[in-house]
Amino acid sequence: MSAAITKVTVLGTGVLGSQIAYQSAFKGCTVTAYDINDDVLATARKRFATLSETYAREVPDAKDGANEAALTRLTLTSDLAAAVSDADLVIEAIPEVADLKRQTFQKVGELAPAKTIIATNSSTLLPSELKDSTGRPDRFLALHFANRVWQLNTAEIMGTPDTDPAVYSRVVEFAKAIGMVPIELHKEKAGYVLNSLLVPFLHAAAELAAGGYADPADVDTTWRIGTGAPLGPFQIYDIIGLNTPYNIMAHGDAESQQLAAWLKTNYIDKGKLGVESGEGFYKYT
Ligand code: NAD
Repeated sequence: MSAAITKVTVLGTGVLGSQIAYQSAFKGCTVTAYDINDDVLATARKRFATLSETYAREVPDAKDGANEAALTRLTLTSDLAAAVSDADLVIEAIPEVADLKRQTFQKVGELAPAKTIIATNSSTLLPSELKDSTGRPDRFLALHFANRVWQLNTAEIMGTPDTDPAVYSRVVEFAKAIGMVPIELHKEKAGYVLNSLLVPFLHAAAELAAGGYADPADVDTTWRIGTGAPLGPFQIYDIIGLNTPYNIMAHGDAESQQLAAWLKTNYIDKGKLGVESGEGFYKYT
């Protein structure tokens, strides 16, 4: 059996990168968090401090110094060569811009040792679109986390036809080791499992409400009673925040664009963005 992944480098310390880095450190990995300059790294330090507080509140294991220990295992740097010099696994969580990702992978492929596995957290780009830029397509795959890594803890793992099965298995083991539930995709699929289900689901719900067929609260009640699910689609909209579904719909076909306009006029333009803003389809205190 191949060695466990213990040295992790996360590229990008934004919303997801900071969470992936913190979770990996919390679970015992030695983590290097890389970002483009010292100003961004100062923000990253604040993000890690906030995550530490969140874990203290919401993660049962975050006691007896576990949060402090996680912080001691985390190093921040803006030096890419140093960041990847001894990494078992590099997880990329930089902006969703294909060329930026390709440029970054090219540098990482040149700088990292032969042992390093490279993974992308991209939500919308297939790993096949990025693999050649790494110079090591056999050691490249997608490892996709969901927001609130400490809570919504799936990690979707998706290789390309070039990904070495042994590399894939090591990444599955890594996902388990850092407390995720690994979801193994056997071949490439835009949207992975979660968004392949969620995007059409949220779209169908918006169609019902925007078309005047039923109120959002009644759509949710129907779904909860009919399926036993804890949340209806509009409760999920509020948790995700309305901007993300809006952006997806606004880039879709004519019908999707109409639904996007409905979301914008009735909710987003009125500051009703979801739980974070205190109101979306529901009010929050
Ligand atoms: P973000 O904008 O919050 O963070 C991006 C970070 O990357 C920033 O800190 C930025 O300074 C840094 N960055 C920019 N250029 C860089 C470079 N060349 N090298 C290293 N770092 C660089 O973005 P995010 O929401 O964390 O998303 C990052 C990735 O994660 C995207 O691919 C996205 O699809 C994916 N993702 C996001 C979510 C989500 O809910 N936000 C969920 C799953 C996956």
